[in-house]
Amino acid sequence: MVISFNDAFSRNVKILNSKASKPSIQAVAVALGAALLATLLVSYSQSQSITIEGIINAQRGNLVLWLLDGLPFVFGYVGQYTSYVLAQEANLMVLEQTDELRQYASNLEKQAAFTSTHDALTELPNRALFYDRLVQALRVVHEQKQAGLSVLMLNIENLKEIQDTLGLSNTDLIVKQLATRLASWSGMSHSVARMDAHTFAILLPECAERVRAEEAARNLVKALEPHFVIGVLKLSLHPSIGIVIAPEHGDDADTLLQRAGVAQFFAVNSANGVSTYSPNMDEHSPRRLTLMSELKKALERDELQLYYQPKIDLVRNCVSGVEALVRWKHEQHGFIPPDEFIVLAERHRMIRPLTQWVLQQAFRTSAEWHRAGIFLTMSINLSTKDLHDAELPDQIAGIAAKMLVQPEWIMFEITESSIMGDPTRALIVIERLRSMGYQFSIDDFGTGYSSLAYLKKLPLSELKIDKSFVLDMSGNENDAIIVRATVNLAHNLGLTVTAEGIENNETMQMLKGIGCDFGQGFYFSKAVSKAELEVWLAQWNAN
Ligand code: C2E
Ligand code: CA
Ligand code: CA
Repeated sequence: MVISFNDAFSRNVKILNSKASKPSIQAVAVALGAALLATLLVSYSQSQSITIEGIINAQRGNLVLWLLDGLPFVFGYVGQYTSYVLAQEANLMVLEQTDELRQYASNLEKQAAFTSTHDALTELPNRALFYDRLVQALRVVHEQKQAGLSVLMLNIENLKEIQDTLGLSNTDLIVKQLATRLASWSGMSHSVARMDAHTFAILLPECAERVRAEEAARNLVKALEPHFVIGVLKLSLHPSIGIVIAPEHGDDADTLLQRAGVAQFFAVNSANGVSTYSPNMDEHSPRRLTLMSELKKALERDELQLYYQPKIDLVRNCVSGVEALVRWKHEQHGFIPPDEFIVLAERHRMIRPLTQWVLQQAFRTSAEWHRAGIFLTMSINLSTKDLHDAELPDQIAGIAAKMLVQPEWIMFEITESSIMGDPTRALIVIERLRSMGYQFSIDDFGTGYSSLAYLKKLPLSELKIDKSFVLDMSGNENDAIIVRATVNLAHNLGLTVTAEGIENNETMQMLKGIGCDFGQGFYFSKAVSKAELEVWLAQWNAN
């Protein structure tokens, strides 16, 4: 908005000028009137009549009248002069105020421009400005034939939870601290923007290599590791970062931002919270959106099923337990693998109702089997968000009491990555359940960032070697070595070992030779429904 003050200014000066002249004109008129009246009075007093001649005589011989005649000129002059001075002063005042107004308007303009391009809370650039900067940076890359750039999309997974617990104003304080840390991060030349309440974007204009972008992202995650402090509270944030690199993943801002969001979605469940975009991430994107509302309905309508995969005691050659694995047969999409919808459920806060459902089913089956003399351990998978739920132990106690299940019949499978997100909170939940008598198994062992220090801290009973090492161990020397070392490690820590992914007799024999305690895999059975498993068990026992 450009305001022109010039017209208003000259108009004001004219008005002031005319206003200042008015009294002087009135004074001249009064002086003229006084001179005329005095002349008439003097003429009348001299000749008892008013004639032209009498007036001339009165004027000629009377000094006072002369003075009176001169007054209009004096008033006129003084009045004009005063009005001129006043108008000049007014001129100056108006000029000064105009400057002030101009300054004020220009400040307002600047402020308006800042608010429309910056986030009010953190004063970081907002989405619109980031978009512009990205467009410009891409233009520079293109025009100057540079190698490229990277964009990191950073989301804070537990910010909503923090807000629900501590309220909006405390969350604002954390977000401000977070913004300062991001802006002052010194890893690489960068600019930060706040994209929405939980999401920040970081432009790395000089980073065109995937390795460097991933390193930068890991460094950023590290920079956010030290606690955020509000009063006496120390909080840790759970960041996840999606990475895109231009021009490899796109050469326009829209595509890059969309893909950075997709990569960030996958980062949530990656071991280190960082994930680089790859085209196969897009495959299920449109379907994902509708899937979540349908999962909610599926839970309500009991459309999910819990399947059970047997676990074999390799030493005693008997069935020792089952692992409960959830199945979803969607009426349109057919079978949806749990790997896919569990990630989604975690992301969309659906994991709690899902876990509740799994716990109900698994506990009910466990109780039923024990009543029927089938003494199998029931292994149940818990996910990251479950371990952050401080109410979980009480809920489990409630279900166990209702179904008449003994804690010793149950084994919870947890993964390293699910603990690493927030070890302190996870450990509280795990230890409470452990003190109630529930057993714990570390699942997918070998795939995450194994930390032996952590392993020792956890109250575990079992270590489960990930199927990626087992599937091929009969043909792959390295895998066989890893499996053997892991079995020894587990035994040294006083844990039993289960190998999952046994698909053939050869692998089973190797595992037996190594001293692995339990095995699970398609060689014995896939996960099947409760009824199918009961049939399978009867056959196994008959052989
Ligand atoms: P997981 O806990 O590692 O489960 C083992 C997966 O390996 C299962 O896949 C199982 O069907 C598969 N598997 C078992 N034996 C073999 C074999 O010999 N060869 C091969 N190739 N695969 C085998 P599934 O059922 O698709 O589950 C995938 C993942 O989904 C599970 O991995 C687990 O992380 C998650 N999941 C499944 N059910 C639940 C659940 O109720 N709650 C939670 N939180 N996660 C679950
Ligand atoms: Ca498992
Ligand atoms: Ca596993």
